[in-house]
Amino acid sequence: MRAVSVIIPAAGSSRRFREGAENRLAAKLYAPINGRPLMTYTLAAFDALPQVREVIVAVEPGSLKRFRKEVLAQHRFKKPIVTVPGGRTRAESVWNALKRTSPKTTYVCIHDAARPLIKTRWFQHLLKNLNGADGVVLGQSVVPTVKVFQPGTGKIKRTLDRTQLFEAQTPQIIKKSALLKSYETLGDRAFRATDDAALIEAIGGEMKAVLHSEPNLKVTTYQDLILVRSLMNQNRSLRFGLGFDRHQLVSKRPFYLGGVRIPSPVGPMGHSDGDLLLHAITDAILGAIGAGDIGDFFSDRDKRWRNARSECFVTAALKMAAGKGFRPAQVDATIVLERPKLGTKKKAVQARVAKLLNLSSDNVSIKAKTAEGLGPEGLSLAASCQALVVLTSNE
Ligand code: MG
Repeated sequence: MRAVSVIIPAAGSSRRFREGAENRLAAKLYAPINGRPLMTYTLAAFDALPQVREVIVAVEPGSLKRFRKEVLAQHRFKKPIVTVPGGRTRAESVWNALKRTSPKTTYVCIHDAARPLIKTRWFQHLLKNLNGADGVVLGQSVVPTVKVFQPGTGKIKRTLDRTQLFEAQTPQIIKKSALLKSYETLGDRAFRATDDAALIEAIGGEMKAVLHSEPNLKVTTYQDLILVRSLMNQNRSLRFGLGFDRHQLVSKRPFYLGGVRIPSPVGPMGHSDGDLLLHAITDAILGAIGAGDIGDFFSDRDKRWRNARSECFVTAALKMAAGKGFRPAQVDATIVLERPKLGTKKKAVQARVAKLLNLSSDNVSIKAKTAEGLGPEGLSLAASCQALVVLTSNE
């Protein structure tokens, strides 16, 4: 298996995007699609590929903090993601990343951060078609009639033969040594290239085209973003599940909430650890797929679950949901208890639940309220929790 280093130029100015965006400060690579920044879709595709050794992203230095906060910290990637400073041009960004690739790398794959519709099978298809060439380019047949004219006079010179034309896109997989050589040979000229394959062509290398016909939009304008959003959601369906749990509070029991230990003189009584938040979430997941409730699968008479940490119930419910083609998209929970006050622990609970469900923390909401002295919660005899879980079908 070839180990490929992926290079993602992500230092564009978003100038044309801002003109149409509602928010004038918008940067296209951070524009939300189903609650996640656009760029995370691009990175996730490469993260899932076994042939990828590392992912190197060229980020404009002024955006580095934002990239770390909104992309790296919120979404867990399995592969190392390295950042390098973006250059003044796309080709300069690629050059900065190229220099940073592992010395063991023989092939690099370059892909525009702004093409989030990338499919992992395109990458496999490109690899298969390398066959000794210096590189392969993903592209699409040109459908419209293309003519050459004289700017100024408007005089048409000729009509091009469509069968010999294609639109170059990314990904492009290129032999690292050839790309290095092209930058060294072309010098400053290299930094003006708008496409990586052109560099290899300029030094007489052999590049091949691999054509496909699926949407591979490069988000440039705000309209492109709207189109990408609708393409991503065309086959998506949502399921909703509601969960509820209530536990008696007794002394000498640890208080686990969302898997986080809360300092407290009392804790929920229960066969397992009594984590009412995770029980409500488990029930909500099961509810969303019509699979029954937590008691159907994890009986409180079963010794296996005695004092069990409740993460295992959530994980099992997620597995059942995945079997039906669904994964979590959002959680909203309300915990009702008089004491202990959750206050500062809410953030830790939110982070833990997000991690457990593989969600970014802004798709997990943990709210707490008292019962104002009324009922078992109000008298501090119990704590309860309601949770809504939204599941989405896998794309
Ligand atoms: Mg329970």
